[in-house]
This record gives sequence, C-alpha cells and structure tokens, in this order.
Amino acid sequence: MHSKKYLIANWKMNGLKGDLNQISIIDNFIKKKNNLSGLQCIFCLPYTILAIALTNRKLKNIKFGAQDISNQLSDFGPFTGQISSKMLQDLKCKFTIVGHSEKRSNGDNDADISQKIQTASKNHIKVILCVGEGLNDFKSKKSFIKVKRQLNLSLKKNKKFLKNIIIAYEPIWSIGTGIIPNNKYLNNFFYKIKKYLKDEFKTKATVIYGGSVSSNNIDQLKNINLCDGFLIGGASLKSKNFIDIMKKYYS
Ligand code: PEP
Repeated sequence: MHSKKYLIANWKMNGLKGDLNQISIIDNFIKKKNNLSGLQCIFCLPYTILAIALTNRKLKNIKFGAQDISNQLSDFGPFTGQISSKMLQDLKCKFTIVGHSEKRSNGDNDADISQKIQTASKNHIKVILCVGEGLNDFKSKKSFIKVKRQLNLSLKKNKKFLKNIIIAYEPIWSIGTGIIPNNKYLNNFFYKIKKYLKDEFKTKATVIYGGSVSSNNIDQLKNINLCDGFLIGGASLKSKNFIDIMKKYYS
C-alpha cells in the first residue's frame, strides 16, 4: 500500500493525562515498523490533553487534532466555553474535526459548519469534515441526497479551501453500534461522493470511512478501493486495538 492513507482517531469525551501513554505506545509501534509508508496517523483529542500531546516532542510519528472549533469568525471575544482556530494554531495544531454527528445533534447546523471550515482554513488548520445520514434516511434510500446536501452547504462558500479538507463519511446508524454497511454499498457511495465533488467542486477529494471500525472488520473494510482511510472512535482508545487495526490494514 503506497498511496497516502489516513487513520484518524476520535477520542470524543475520553482521556485523562495518563491515557496519553496509549498514544506513546502507538507512536513507538509506527517508529519501529517500516511498512507503514504513506500512513498519516492523527489523534483528535479533548482540548485538555491535546495541548499536552502537542508539546510532547517525543511523539514524532503522530499528528494531533481537535474535535471541534468555534464557529465565530473572530479570533477572540466574549464567547464563553469556545476555542477558536487561532488558539489551535497557537498550539501548532494542524487538524480539527468539524460537523461530527454528535455535534450536529447538539445544535450545529450546516451554516455553523461552513463557518468553522472557513475559520479553520484561514488559520491553516486542515478540516476533517464529517457527513452522514441517519437510519431513517438510510432505510428510505435517501443517504446520498442527505450527504450531498451536507457537502454542498458546508463547502459552497469554502471552495478555495477544498485541498485542506478530508471528508469523513460516517453513517450515523453505524457509529458505536458495531453495524457497518457492506463493501458494495460503500464502494458505490464513495464513488458517488468523489464524483459529486469532482463534478461540482472540481476537486479530487480525500474520503475516509467512519463508524464502528475495529480490528474485527478492518480486513473487510480495507478492500473498499476508493476509501482513503478511516475515522475510528471506540477502537482508538486502547493502543492494542488501534495497533491491531494498523497491522491488519497494512498486512
Ligand atoms: C466516530 O464517532 O467518529 C466514530 C467513528 O465512532 P466509532 O468508531 O466508535 O463508531
């Protein structure tokens, strides 16, 4: 496997300072392996430990990102509880997730997400943009209509930043449930996303899959030809699980 592949971990609201040793173990594993060429491994952590990880000079093989940023276009201001992209840039943080379904279900709309992409990109932070449909849309075969709308509304004002955006297709019904779509469905879905972005936005998009990825299903999922990597929640919290995924992905 030679082209660039992404394994992106989303720790959500998990992790204390002591848990960063899981990341040290993974960093060491990557250092010792010589067949992981093209792998970009990114851990998206809670802000509390993100700042610590970013200043740990020993962690050379892993990049770090946030799980969200403020939608405010200004760098500073009276926005209690929010973290701006300028603050992330100050930490030399290079990535952030935007539009995760757990944030969308908590109030983020497509206009917020569009602004988050704008402010992140302005401060040279790459965006992992999550899109995905709920179970009802999936059952009524409206998945792509839903995802196309999310992509359009998030990206239409951000055309000049498209090269800085990784798209993560995460069917909401798959997140944390252990249920994954079959490969035929996913291959077709990735084809549609990439074609849509090429036709409408003239961009060759990087698209990854997220939803219940684990060492039990990576052998299946790695055969999705158009998939550029994975966004991994639960199975990224323990080094053993994450390393098992890496080993199988590259075997
Ligand atoms: C996620 O929420 O981004 C995710 C991929 O979670 P999980 O792997 O736990 O389904």
